[in-house]
Amino acid sequence: MSVSVWQADGKQPVREVDVLVVGAGIVGTAAALAIRRLGREPVITEARDVALGASGRNAGFMITGLDAYYHHAIARYGHDATREVYALSQRTHALWHDLISAHGVRFERIGSMLLAESEAEAAELRDAYAAMLADGLTPVFHDGDPLGRGYCAAIEQPQDGAVQPVELAYAALRESGAVLVENNELYAIEPGDGYVTVRTRKYTFRAQKVLLCTNAYSMYVHPYFVGKVIPTRAQVLATAPLDKPAINTCGYSDYGYMYYRMDFDGRLLIGGGRKQNKPAEHDTSDDRTTAGVQGILDAYLRQRFPDVTAPVERRWAGIMGFTPDGLPLVGTLPDMPDVGFAVGFNGHGLAMGAATAEVAAAHLLTGASPGVLSAQRDLSLWAAEH
Ligand SMILES: Cc1cc2nc3c(=O)[nH]c(=O)nc-3n(C[C@H](O)[C@H](O)[C@H](O)COP(=O)(O)OP(=O)(O)OC[C@H]3O[C@@H](n4cnc5c(N)ncnc54)[C@H](O)[C@@H]3O)c2cc1C
Repeated sequence: MSVSVWQADGKQPVREVDVLVVGAGIVGTAAALAIRRLGREPVITEARDVALGASGRNAGFMITGLDAYYHHAIARYGHDATREVYALSQRTHALWHDLISAHGVRFERIGSMLLAESEAEAAELRDAYAAMLADGLTPVFHDGDPLGRGYCAAIEQPQDGAVQPVELAYAALRESGAVLVENNELYAIEPGDGYVTVRTRKYTFRAQKVLLCTNAYSMYVHPYFVGKVIPTRAQVLATAPLDKPAINTCGYSDYGYMYYRMDFDGRLLIGGGRKQNKPAEHDTSDDRTTAGVQGILDAYLRQRFPDVTAPVERRWAGIMGFTPDGLPLVGTLPDMPDVGFAVGFNGHGLAMGAATAEVAAAHLLTGASPGVLSAQRDLSLWAAEH
């Protein structure tokens, strides 16, 4: 990001703050809440407004775990790390559910179904299911198509559900009591003597600590994130409201590349289509839709939901932050130990966001270990298939 001498003219008033959070998505607002619970005073600065990034553009699937099949996760990360990640996801859901209950956030506990598009994928699901059972998890296996739409098998997690993610971010913001400075982009961070100077559009902040929750946009904030968090586009379509629901679960298939649910007003949402369009969707922070991906979504709508005749009412895109190994990154900047971060959600912010924010806040403010999420791990060790 660059800034002109007219925009940053040196006249921005200085504002002393305790802990400055950058970014007001679901992670930044959850981080503000975690910071408050550690007895500190959070202030959030946000370039746009609450949930105008990926947090307000996602499909709202609250799925426990990563969409990597459980046995693949064990093969990639090892058993202990996989259990730790799954536990972080359970903790994330517990934190979201507190907010959902306290603030009336719309949520439907309709479960999630990881569906097989082919017999080969069904065989993978059987192995994933066996690995989950062996770890004491309690998913439900469907041998055959539970939806009557031509799938081959499914793993159901009944505890999962569909949320309104913008309401969730506002709930976390309210619960945190944080002051939000919206429309206030960060231009530069500089280490000071016992504080961090953060130059933004409206103010020059002098902060005791700074926590970056800028996900896909992190490399524009600091070069440390170049190659560590890669902006990657995801796209969705939504039909006009239907007379009756076409599906009653958070369904996803083709190894997580396709996903579909009803919204709260009876629209069918279908997301995905990136697998066939990876070069165009990779390494971009342009959140316009493309004909290539939307064409795949249209075809999927016709193929799996031929009974749905309502027109497509809306199409949108958002930018996710992918890490080389598929796990979020928590740590502090090597050149600024008072600047922490919770970034790189790999399209799973609702699965991992709140607990990752909590771990990042504790790491920055108390020195607690970030465990499996530590950005100091060897990121080339567990290459993820994105
Ligand atoms: C189409 C789509 C579908 C998805 N579906 C799901 C799903 O069903 N389930 C799921 O778990 N996840 C899903 N995701 C992923 C999920 O949306 C993200 O993982 C999550 O929103 C990440 O939250 P965040 O707060 O880290 O990022 P964001 O919401 O992107 O927030 C980052 C914020 O930082 C701000 N920012 C950036 N730079 C600066 C700066 N210099 N100064 C100030 N502010 C700045 C941005 O404006 C933005 O508001 C999906 C994503 C997309 C795009």
